Amino acid sequence: MTEIISHDILVLGSGLAGLRAALSASIATRGKVDIAIVSKVQLMRSHSVAAEGGTAAVLRTEEGDSIDLHAWDTVKGSDFLADQDVVMRFAQSMPEEIKQLEHWGIPWSRRPDGRIDQRDFGGHGYPRATFAADKTGFFEMQTLYDTLTRYQNTTRYDEWFVTSILTEDGEFRGLSAIDLATGQFHVLLGKALIIATGGAGRISGFTTYSHSVTGDGIALAYRAGIPIKDMEFIQFHPTGLIPTGILMTEGCRGEGGYLLNSKGERYMEGYAPGKKELAPRDIVSRATITEIKEGRGFKAVNGLDYVHLDLRHLGADKINERLGFIRELSMKFVDVDPVYEPIPIRPVFHYTMGGIDTDINGQTRMKGVWSAGESACVSLHGSNRLGCNSTAECLVWGKITGAEAARYVTGLSGEVKPPQEAIARAREALYDDLLKREGKESIYTIRQELRRNVDENLGVYRTGEGLEAGCRKMKELKERYSRIAVRDRSTAYNIDLMYALELGFMLDVAEVAFIGAFNRQESRGGHARLDFTKRDDPNWLKHTLALRTPEGPRLDFSAVNISLWEPVERKY
Ligand SMILES: Cc1cc2nc3c(=O)[nH]c(=O)nc-3n(C[C@H](O)[C@H](O)[C@H](O)COP(=O)(O)OP(=O)(O)OC[C@H]3O[C@@H](n4cnc5c(N)ncnc54)[C@H](O)[C@@H]3O)c2cc1C
Repeated sequence: MTEIISHDILVLGSGLAGLRAALSASIATRGKVDIAIVSKVQLMRSHSVAAEGGTAAVLRTEEGDSIDLHAWDTVKGSDFLADQDVVMRFAQSMPEEIKQLEHWGIPWSRRPDGRIDQRDFGGHGYPRATFAADKTGFFEMQTLYDTLTRYQNTTRYDEWFVTSILTEDGEFRGLSAIDLATGQFHVLLGKALIIATGGAGRISGFTTYSHSVTGDGIALAYRAGIPIKDMEFIQFHPTGLIPTGILMTEGCRGEGGYLLNSKGERYMEGYAPGKKELAPRDIVSRATITEIKEGRGFKAVNGLDYVHLDLRHLGADKINERLGFIRELSMKFVDVDPVYEPIPIRPVFHYTMGGIDTDINGQTRMKGVWSAGESACVSLHGSNRLGCNSTAECLVWGKITGAEAARYVTGLSGEVKPPQEAIARAREALYDDLLKREGKESIYTIRQELRRNVDENLGVYRTGEGLEAGCRKMKELKERYSRIAVRDRSTAYNIDLMYALELGFMLDVAEVAFIGAFNRQESRGGHARLDFTKRDDPNWLKHTLALRTPEGPRLDFSAVNISLWEPVERKY
């Protein structure tokens, strides 16, 4: 028997966006609204705990920072694809979020006089990265979780894997999920849903992201008929540790670290004379790949040629105080102590700018469904995100969507009736289709080929030829996926089944990213094409939307909000 459980609001995901949303809905209703927080991993294992460098906010107007400057930096960083009304709301909302976390007890790093400290970050015109050493995400998560425990109205569903969004006549009704510990199939009914499932970093084989970041929520929304937006824009972080891809935070450069090529030159002086290492990530990543391609990198046995991140001149005291975690990671994983030696790094798949299409309130086109955080595309980052703006986005739109959903459910009466047909379909998809497939294809081989395809054809630099080959490969992989077999048929922690489901989500997301990238004949932000090297505003100053059809993704476009600044050439 399928167990059916009802709540008012379902929060799908327990990262920064999900926890902030649950807290916001609790506060807005003084703990009266009944909330479920569903997560496929234990709550505190969400990727947000890995955020290192900081969270952007304007705290020092008296010292020269301003809301306008934060907004302008974000718009320029986005290569003018960000929606400017969204950016302005974001910059205006952030100072309050930092203070709110302070009141809830977060241990922000401080100046000697006791005031909250801030550090420099790429593309920001003022040092506004608010941080807690190099474990900012961990402390933010802990603080939100601690505060949430004051409210008795949330139920946690840890290690519940959501397999579909249940709808009836196009309206939201609930979620289907597997309790991973028992393998039992469940239905969660809700009046509202907030999708906060994070990004899709694991479509790449060389990424900073945890194994759980597989684009599930983006694919779930897409399958439920909600458009997804700007998926072709992928951010490469300039400093991924060789060979694992573990992130060496931008805080390293924010604190004064250098990037050196094999000749010992600070090559960023040639690419962005003004900001050097602190130019936005797309520019630093392209410069680094160019250095490597032109023979000024270090050779690696596995083909992951690299350059150096040099922190030595910062001294042991500063490294230990501000970048202690980076020192630990570097020593443990590559036996390099950054106090004495430079760290081997190269650009690494880091962030998906695109996601579920939402309006400025985080609301999707399906009534009762919102999305916040990395799974959403509220169009804050455009084609290139500035460092520190993502944890900040999670806080701002977690708060907004939580309050919006709370208001929405408060105005509704009656209970949600189980959508029997949709429930039956969700069950069948698992037990009569996926678990019964007898094919010869291995999910692990397909997953490996998917990642190779993304790494080879959807990288820092792209070509029409590579993208076309990539699209073809996606079609082939999707066809082969229909002939897989889940070999493990057990119930408790069937990881084989979970990986098969995640692979299905990743194939959907990567296919849309490839088609969007092939279609977009220009270079903008994180999308750099060698066959269309210029930004083309007359034709391409627009968002890409992808809708699911039985024949594959259908593309559409939507306008960019340019209410404050006209696009100009980006120089740093
Ligand atoms: C190493 C690293 C360092 C970073 N550093 C910074 C930084 O310093 N500053 C900054 O601004 N940004 C940083 N970022 C980016 C930022 O951390 C993320 O974009 C942000 O934390 C994402 O939060 P989220 O709440 O959207 O999702 P996540 O924290 O990724 O959480 C996703 C949640 O969804 C759940 N979920 C997903 N699929 C399912 C499913 N099928 N069923 C049930 N549950 C599901 C997961 O269990 C999880 O709880 C960093 C990212 C990484 C990887």
